[in-house]
Amino acid sequence: MSFRTKKSLGQHFLHDGNIIRKIADAIPAKTGDRVIEIGPGTGALTRELLNRFEDIQVIEIDQRAVEVLNEEFPDLIIHQQDVLKTNWDDLISKTGDTYVVGNLPYYITSPILFSVLEKRDFFKEALFMMQKEVAERLVAEHSSKEYGILSVQTQLMSEPEILFDVSRHSFSPPPRVTSAVIRLRFNKPELPFKDETMKKVVRTAFNQRRKKLSNALKPLLGKELPEGFNYDDRAEHWSPETYAKLSERLEQTDSIS
Ligand code: SAM
Repeated sequence: MSFRTKKSLGQHFLHDGNIIRKIADAIPAKTGDRVIEIGPGTGALTRELLNRFEDIQVIEIDQRAVEVLNEEFPDLIIHQQDVLKTNWDDLISKTGDTYVVGNLPYYITSPILFSVLEKRDFFKEALFMMQKEVAERLVAEHSSKEYGILSVQTQLMSEPEILFDVSRHSFSPPPRVTSAVIRLRFNKPELPFKDETMKKVVRTAFNQRRKKLSNALKPLLGKELPEGFNYDDRAEHWSPETYAKLSERLEQTDSIS
């Protein structure tokens, strides 16, 4: 098949059958569940998904790729749109669980991640291929150098696990970096505070990550620091649970707008 890939759309297509099978193997969807694929491109992974699962829908922005998909898989439900403008309510299964998977366009990995995390109630799991370096940030432990905003938010909103690495040579054209497949399980109890509160706290803390938290959190808290936290630490030293505790406390005491 001749298809001119577009760098601007992050088009790196999988051609390694072994990796494609491993990704599909990692999706535990059952009869009655839906699998939504983000960025199917010309269908390398889609073909394997269609062999295994009965309810597949895909979201692809590139009209040329959609034409290929239509031709190859006439019965496939294709949403030709920007995944970041997707109204997930319309796409999820109303009867079974919904799994979201994709070899993500790397230029928008974080926004896709945040949009799925925000709607985590809709999904059972997400299985994403991304740059290994980003995957490592999602699972990073506090006090490590990879630990940051993405780690705290992802770990409070899901249970992330790196499944395996994927060599750049499994794609054509090859990207510059090694990739990894990561699973996010959305099995955590509901957080006892608004996502927005936690995001504000975490963003403010990491905005000045070299400063002590007593200073870094000033723009949000002023001098009224709730008791029971070590503000001599820096942002990267607090665990996700500590950020959760502070977010909960701020809401309880009405100390955040
Ligand atoms: N799944 C295919 C594979 O593994 O061979 C292609 C993966 S490629 C890394 C990313 C795909 O995402 C491309 O097909 C690209 O056109 C699509 N894409 C890029 N930006 C998008 C967006 N904003 N919304 C939906 N799809 C997008």
